[in-house]
Amino acid sequence: MIPVARPLIGPEEEAAVIAVMRSGMLAQGPEVARLEQAFAEQCGVAHAVAVSNGTAALHLALLANEIGPGDEVITTPFSFIATANSILMTGATPVFVDIDERCFNLDVRQIEAAITPRTKAIMPVHLYGHPAEMDAILAIAQRYGLAVIEDAAQAIGATYRGRPIGSFGTACFSLYATKNVMCGEGGMITTDDAQIADRLRLLRSHGSRVRYYHESMGYNFRLTDLQAAIGRVQLGRCEEFTERRIANAAFLDEAIDHPAVIKPHARQSVRHVYHQYTVRIAGDRDEAVRQLTEAGVGSAVFYPIPIPSQPYYRKLGYTSDAIPVAERLSKEVLALPVHPALTEDDLHTIAAAVNALQVGDPATIAA
Ligand SMILES: *Cc1c(COP(=O)(O)O)cnc(C)c1O
Repeated sequence: MIPVARPLIGPEEEAAVIAVMRSGMLAQGPEVARLEQAFAEQCGVAHAVAVSNGTAALHLALLANEIGPGDEVITTPFSFIATANSILMTGATPVFVDIDERCFNLDVRQIEAAITPRTKAIMPVHLYGHPAEMDAILAIAQRYGLAVIEDAAQAIGATYRGRPIGSFGTACFSLYATKNVMCGEGGMITTDDAQIADRLRLLRSHGSRVRYYHESMGYNFRLTDLQAAIGRVQLGRCEEFTERRIANAAFLDEAIDHPAVIKPHARQSVRHVYHQYTVRIAGDRDEAVRQLTEAGVGSAVFYPIPIPSQPYYRKLGYTSDAIPVAERLSKEVLALPVHPALTEDDLHTIAAAVNALQVGDPATIAA
């Protein structure tokens, strides 16, 4: 079976971990500092703060932007649950704006109507590695005095109008095992704002600058040097990984030709880094998954249920009324393997399996 995700780990990652183990310094130390430095350079910002995972990054990024109870944060319903949960963790309220059906990101035309006097921030997600429409988002944020906190968990290496994702406000990355750059579990926050970076460093370690002296509330959200050592090698390979993802996506774009399959769209203005290669399937998606599995091709649905339609969010009073596009796309999307470990044979197998799908009526999907 060709897996839908697989980390590429080589002798460099192994050697880096062994070196940390032999150093005797396993928790947050010099490797974390070096990873932060490399990350800040990658994103073209002054500060990067490492944390234990992407969810912690989002949580602390909101807190560092002074978001809390009584505040509203505008975000997308079509993302991993951590995006909205991080808002709930601060005591603030997520407000969901529907998505654009071509790129799966926030429909920027609908943001202004969702702004109230309580709105404090916009949290776009660069879903699947395709950057959200940052020009429009930044313009709205500026007009209403809102913070912009990017959920860039899937978008390391991506650019918007030539500018790196991670450089538009406060941005959060995940280094989870299946992400484009990974270290098992890890997270990173990037910002140009020294005050926010300082708050983040306090928040991740019990509000403490000087050991056992606590000047603010805080958590233990530190990354370890063991993980940072892997992350640093991986970050050094980011460009190589990204180019392979983009080349794999280009191959699939060229080779897939099926009336019931809509291929992903990448805007001219962006560098899409294909964390996922997500097609839309007309007809019976479960049947498509079954046929692909039979042909040895792994696939996955990101995400089968929009966040406000999740059982827990229903209990909080959310409904799916205002998010028809997210509802519809959640029933159509299917991610195919695009990761850098794919061989040319794999790519041929994937395209052939997709082209052979028998899934019913293409008329049910509007191109
Ligand atoms: C992976 C991911 C997260 C959470 O990151 P973790 O490291 O798993 O906590 C948040 N948002 C999106 C869009 C993600 O893909």
